[in-house]
Amino acid sequence: MIYDCAVVGGGVIGLSLAWRLALAGSRVIVVERQQLAREASWAGAGILPAGPRTNMEHPYDQLRAISSIRHAEWAEQLREDTGIDTGYRVCGGLHMARTPGESAALRGWRLQLDDEQIESLELSTDDLADSESAIASNELRCCLSLPDDAQLRNPWFLNALIAAGRRLSVEFRTDCEVRSIIRRGNQVTGLDTSDGTIQAGSYCFTTGAWTYPLLHGLSIRANIVPIRGQMILFRSEHVLTRRIINEGSRYLVPREDGRLLAGSSEEEAGYDKSTTDEILDSLRAFAESWLPDLRQAKIEASWAGLRPGSYDGFPYLDRLPDIDNAFIAAGHFRSGLYLSPATAENMAQWMLTGEPLISLDPFCLLRR
Ligand SMILES: Cc1cc2nc3c(=O)[nH]c(=O)nc-3n(C[C@H](O)[C@H](O)[C@H](O)COP(=O)(O)OP(=O)(O)OC[C@H]3O[C@@H](n4cnc5c(N)ncnc54)[C@H](O)[C@@H]3O)c2cc1C
Repeated sequence: MIYDCAVVGGGVIGLSLAWRLALAGSRVIVVERQQLAREASWAGAGILPAGPRTNMEHPYDQLRAISSIRHAEWAEQLREDTGIDTGYRVCGGLHMARTPGESAALRGWRLQLDDEQIESLELSTDDLADSESAIASNELRCCLSLPDDAQLRNPWFLNALIAAGRRLSVEFRTDCEVRSIIRRGNQVTGLDTSDGTIQAGSYCFTTGAWTYPLLHGLSIRANIVPIRGQMILFRSEHVLTRRIINEGSRYLVPREDGRLLAGSSEEEAGYDKSTTDEILDSLRAFAESWLPDLRQAKIEASWAGLRPGSYDGFPYLDRLPDIDNAFIAAGHFRSGLYLSPATAENMAQWMLTGEPLISLDPFCLLRR
């Protein structure tokens, strides 16, 4: 069978794109070399930072703004279509500083939040103690509360995207590795896979941290490297806080059922997804420093995932150079769950009509 669109990689970017393409009437196949949604998209924390509420000039900020709005709409649509709750909740976030440098950075960031019309309030130690009795505030120097920060349960979101795709006859070909891309002139004509050749009218590579080796076969450089992030899942008897606690690049994400995620590290470890005692110990100490009651909580699990990191932190969203019918959507680093709606809607539009919804120029492959 020849499909209209082949999406290579069944993480959040590929699954979101497949759903949007199928909603527009395309016959879609998703090709995944293992089970669906087992890599970075599963490993992530599901934090969805508040998005800008004003017209933004830079396309990256436009992706943030669109995604923030769409997450709420998608959660509703996915629940209606599949009956699955994605866990999308506007739970609010607390952004903490315990050093003078961190405080200055938070106050500077607040000016940017004001420009973007994102609501933020500075809380004193007493304000915090009044509203969050489980949070230790003895080391606190500055705390910003962002009521519009949100979260989702990424495994639930991914299951909902798969179910929504299935309802629209998306074919999910799992345990099927794309080994090379067959090219004739300015067209990709097929995928050479561990399960034979797959052909489609157009192709999109959403292969996350594994994109560089795959496209290298076409002499295309997508400068994406795996950046390992480790995570601990606590389970406590009581919900200690409802808001996400952020400090620098680390965070605590409380779920409604007493579970709480502590993350994360940024490590260059190649494709090694093992956890290390050193990082897990430091995450545990970080978690307990803000929520001392976690000392009594059970550690239910720990894991690591590989973020697709690009050198400038921006994803690659582009048509492949000198190829008319093949695209890339990869390299979202720490924000792939957050930016998945805007990425999928733009890439689907581009694949189907020849133009994305907004300018994606800063995300081109040939940027330097
Ligand atoms: C610890 C951690 C915490 C995070 N927290 C957050 C967060 O709070 N918020 C947020 O927005 N983002 C977060 N992220 C980042 C986010 O998870 C990623 O940006 C996002 O999942 C990337 O999605 P993806 O679909 O591009 O990649 P992936 O989910 O990695 O999917 C790529 C898929 O492609 C498949 N594949 C690769 N090569 C081939 C091939 N040759 N043939 C067939 N299939 C192939 C892989 O098997 C994989 O399933 C976090 C990441 C980590 C690791």
